[in-house]
Amino acid sequence: MSGRRCTRCLLRQYDPQAYRETLQEHIDRIPPRDRADPAGYAARLETCQACDRLTRGACLACGCYVELRAASRRGRCPYGKW
Ligand code: SF4
Repeated sequence: MSGRRCTRCLLRQYDPQAYRETLQEHIDRIPPRDRADPAGYAARLETCQACDRLTRGACLACGCYVELRAASRRGRCPYGKW
């Protein structure tokens, strides 16, 4: 854990590099048995990238960070797209 979490900050204050590192740390903490398979993960993210509800890595429908939600085998799109 880097300790550089972005909490309660405005977009103008956030550090994109720290954001990505923190997100990756959360993804890395998912136990292997609970992770989506790599092909499924890529397909999920491809679906999100084509979705109007994706903005700055977050899903406007549920507020989740899609790269984190999609990394979990049990993760679901709130609109049933994956
Ligand atoms: S999780 Fe579903 S609704 Fe949200 S951005 Fe991805 S495809 Fe769109």
